[in-house]
Amino acid sequence: MSARKKLVAGNWKLHHDRAASVELAKAIAAGLPSSQVEVVIAPVFTSLDVVRGAIAGTSIGLSAQDLHWDDSGAFTGEVSAPLLKDVGCTHVIIGHSERRQLFGETDDRVSKKLGAALKHGLVPIVCVGETLEEREAGRTLEVVLGQIDAALAGITKDALAGIVIAYEPVWAIGTGKVAKSSDAQEVQAAIRKRMSERIDAGAAQKTRILYGGSVKPDNAAELMAQPDVDGALVGGASLKAASFLAIVKGA
Ligand code: PGA
Repeated sequence: MSARKKLVAGNWKLHHDRAASVELAKAIAAGLPSSQVEVVIAPVFTSLDVVRGAIAGTSIGLSAQDLHWDDSGAFTGEVSAPLLKDVGCTHVIIGHSERRQLFGETDDRVSKKLGAALKHGLVPIVCVGETLEEREAGRTLEVVLGQIDAALAGITKDALAGIVIAYEPVWAIGTGKVAKSSDAQEVQAAIRKRMSERIDAGAAQKTRILYGGSVKPDNAAELMAQPDVDGALVGGASLKAASFLAIVKGA
């Protein structure tokens, strides 16, 4: 049994207006088991403020789905770490594959965003993962560890322990094709080894590594029972309180 506290994060992506966000947040808060699992929800930017109110006084963390690395300036359409702190965020997702694939997110930007999150005291949830093509070409570890090296360039051992990594194979996201728990474990153990070698072994033991990609109530417990799977980043199944809470209970 690892000493790392399990974390289950719900990535609501581009779903739910304010009313629906509040309803879902309240239903999650009401059904939360009194377990040792840390729970985080990531609504759209426009729902962050009302969701903060809905979960006030609970242990649920509030995450944004992205941020810009500068604090302020001429960056139309962007939101910065100080503004996320101002609205009550505790966490921020960085480098999600949808941002990498659809919005031109690069490793360099992921690294800058990580620095900004840490500077302002937000817990970063840094996403990495290979495409189907890369997996079939036998390049999974090369791709994923390359993303880890790039994202964590310049990270100190003190910062490392507070970072959350999410291993999300691109082919498993929103497809219903979940990774085998042994495959998730293999990649996540390799990520931890890499962080141990490149940054610090002690700190790497403390870094939580989540699995994401078609996590559902019926596969969550097996995945999270793997020694290097410290929780889950959940998309589709986080949009209903019942399925999200079932995953939390499986952690
Ligand atoms: P999914 O999404 O659970 O719907 O596959 C996971 C994610 O994109 O974080």
